[in-house]
Amino acid sequence: MGLAMTINTMTFKGVLLEKEPMSRHTSWRVGGVADRFYRPTDLDDLSLYLQSLNQDESVFFIGLGSNLLVADKGIRGTVVCTSGVLNEIKVIDETRIYVEVGVPSPKLAKFSAKLGLTGAEFLSGIPGTIGGALKMNAGAVGGETWDVVESVETIDMQGNVHKRTPEEFSIAYRHIESKDDSLQKEFFVSAVIKLKKGNKEESLETIKKHLNRRGATQPIQQPNAGSVFRNPPDDYAARLIEACGLKGFCIGGACVSEKHANFIINTGTATAKDIKALIETVHEKVMQQHEINLIREVQIVGELDE
Ligand SMILES: Cc1cc2nc3c(=O)[nH]c(=O)nc-3n(C[C@H](O)[C@H](O)[C@H](O)COP(=O)(O)OP(=O)(O)OC[C@H]3O[C@@H](n4cnc5c(N)ncnc54)[C@H](O)[C@@H]3O)c2cc1C
Repeated sequence: MGLAMTINTMTFKGVLLEKEPMSRHTSWRVGGVADRFYRPTDLDDLSLYLQSLNQDESVFFIGLGSNLLVADKGIRGTVVCTSGVLNEIKVIDETRIYVEVGVPSPKLAKFSAKLGLTGAEFLSGIPGTIGGALKMNAGAVGGETWDVVESVETIDMQGNVHKRTPEEFSIAYRHIESKDDSLQKEFFVSAVIKLKKGNKEESLETIKKHLNRRGATQPIQQPNAGSVFRNPPDDYAARLIEACGLKGFCIGGACVSEKHANFIINTGTATAKDIKALIETVHEKVMQQHEINLIREVQIVGELDE
């Protein structure tokens, strides 16, 4: 598709796919079909598309699917994918950058560093979009997304765009929530990022170090979704999982990585069911052995068996 389409008398120009396999859009490479999958051409087009939907339609936004386990039965309703389309990034003034949510987080890190701005280097190794980083409050090496957000724009189900400030959200470790119920059905479309003046060479060097470190410690050659569990206070989920002897433990095609125990890799044949069962087993073993209730960081979405 991709041709102009008309639904409910409104014309939109993006690509609408039916029964689109989500395994094509998740870094774990698993997941059944989404009933509808829409990639808008730009913000105006996204607005028109949302207006065209029944207001009770279940809508789920994704970026690069790098923090998602989509069930084998897929997702009922509409998935909106911003990756590669809402991709504007520009300088506002000496320390502020406007970025749309489809921009990959590493691109913002490099863009800022090249401008001699510091504060976004931590995003260089987080392989998702700005939309996913905002929703997850993605972070690494001591930095968190919302530390550098001055404001965001959201879009509601009627296609209206709103400017929101960080004060309107409860911001926590790998988690944010809007304080007001009426914001629950809004999705991020852009952000204003506020950084500090720094040194271009130093920032580029920092980015290089982050990327080298990741290459050495994470199984980035195999399909995965990053850290499966959040780190508990004053400890590391990977340490606890490794201490249970679970490195290399597999269910079906899903295995706890030998390289990093908080990563689960798809060896090629994993189903979402395998990965979910492995997540549950790891959780249970850590609970039994350490009496620590690990909180899942990856999100499980879609129509589950049970
Ligand atoms: C190898 C690897 C390393 C990783 N390292 C890190 C790390 O160091 N730190 C870290 O925090 N994470 C890490 N992650 C996890 C992941 O990359 C981040 O959570 C990332 O920010 C997710 O972005 P995404 O675009 O892939 O989001 P998706 O996985 O597509 O979506 C994640 C969540 O964000 C929501 N979302 C996406 N876009 C929007 C939007 N526009 N509006 C509203 N909600 C939206 C989705 O609905 C979903 O709830 C890693 C993942 C991998 C595979």
